[in-house]
Amino acid sequence: MKNNLKVVFLASELTPIAKVGGLGDVVGALPKALYELGINVSVFLPFYGCIDVKKYKIRKIKDGIKVVADSRIEKIGLWRTSLPDSKISAYLISHKYFSGKEIYYAGAKMANGKYEDSASDINRFVFFTKAALTALRVLKLRPDIIHCHDWHTALAPDLLKTENEKNDFFKKTKTVYTIHNLANQGIAAPVIIGFSGLDQNLPVIKADLENGDINMMVQGIMSADIINTVSPSYAQEILSHYKGAGLDQILLKRKNDLYGVVNGIDTDFYNPQTDKFIKSKYSIVNLNKKADNKIVLQKKLGLPIDKKIALIGLVSRLVWQKGIELVTDEFLKLNCQFVFLGTGDKKLEEGLKKLAEKYPDKFRAIIKFDEELSHLIYAGSDIFLMPSLFEPCGLGQMIAMRYGAVPVVRATGGLKDTVRQLSIKKADGFVFRKFESEALFAELKKALDIYYEKPKFWKQLMINGMKADFSWEKSAKEYLKIYKMALKK
Ligand code: ADP
Repeated sequence: MKNNLKVVFLASELTPIAKVGGLGDVVGALPKALYELGINVSVFLPFYGCIDVKKYKIRKIKDGIKVVADSRIEKIGLWRTSLPDSKISAYLISHKYFSGKEIYYAGAKMANGKYEDSASDINRFVFFTKAALTALRVLKLRPDIIHCHDWHTALAPDLLKTENEKNDFFKKTKTVYTIHNLANQGIAAPVIIGFSGLDQNLPVIKADLENGDINMMVQGIMSADIINTVSPSYAQEILSHYKGAGLDQILLKRKNDLYGVVNGIDTDFYNPQTDKFIKSKYSIVNLNKKADNKIVLQKKLGLPIDKKIALIGLVSRLVWQKGIELVTDEFLKLNCQFVFLGTGDKKLEEGLKKLAEKYPDKFRAIIKFDEELSHLIYAGSDIFLMPSLFEPCGLGQMIAMRYGAVPVVRATGGLKDTVRQLSIKKADGFVFRKFESEALFAELKKALDIYYEKPKFWKQLMINGMKADFSWEKSAKEYLKIYKMALKK
């Protein structure tokens, strides 16, 4: 299928070339799925000092391209490679702003215990956005759609409007803005207007300036032709004061152009039939082999070995958003074993360690980041917990289902959109509503009762989850619809 649609991604991360988190995963995977739909897609990324030039066969294609920033002329280099295992071009922009090893300065500075230097990140990514637009003109690459992501490239729609006052190159280009994380908004002092060369008379700039600063995310929300976030429920939730992170009123103004598209997962990497991290491979035709992984996990962690006992897994960043504190001593009365893997908040880590000390036959807490162990937990668990307070999309529940671990999740954001509770056809999990320990306990108890007393029904829940479509192909088709809507703007 050919669409003749030309889409350019502008992003601060791209897995595996430069990844910090989920944003990189989306920018690394979605273009490949779009390409399969016949879309001509390419990605622009800063050329960070940490990027492995040899590994990714990055070649210089142009030098000395002039970009105006702060009324000065800066020169950038333009480099090119392909997204691994694809024909998709990734263009990298080199400049001294990106020559350091860190992708984000703010995070790096905080990690060293110094103050957060977010101001320089603002300059870096505004400059990147401007440079990418300049590079597009130099390459004579005129996209139908510029797809920008999170606050880092949110200024692209404003910059296009400013450019269009001077020349026609981007006159027909439309913009799509994806919010991956509403919590980081990129708030800048007004001097950013001069730095970026934005038209200060744009109504969205004037309105934003009223409270004394320029919020990158607000600009993206107000100026892009279409906006979306990473699940339909989260797209609804952020319109409320409670979950809008201060932007609910702004989002409400654009609610007719706001969509939710769930992320996919890498179904090759997360595949119990081929997973190199697990000993006993399995699928829906030989599901009995899944329990061998439970035994491997029990042995590895020194838990009593018992093929029949229900094993409850959790793999997560240990932060307040994830609802870890809902699991209390009371839960240890249940007939099951718990394996929790995660790092993060010291208080939450200590709480889990204490449970492990108190209940050595039932509870294990592994406080580290461990990809291999995470796969063994997905494969060895019967039940997977995700009791989040809020969750824009969430990947853990989808990975768990792919491995036949039945999720117990809270009804929020992407969890609500990806787990089918018992009342729904082809149910594949358990969903509770109130963010309370008792509610999670009751739902887990319900799951355990079915696990022990209705094994046939349980097997069906597992199979339904394993058959669910979490591929990027499905999400890419949704994005194609969004691009078509943007073109009509
Ligand atoms: P978030 O993006 O908020 O961290 P998600 O559920 O979207 O939550 O994604 C979490 C991803 O990180 C999953 O792939 C999960 O397996 C992985 N992960 C989280 N913590 C760990 C850990 N300690 N070790 C290994 N993988 C982890």
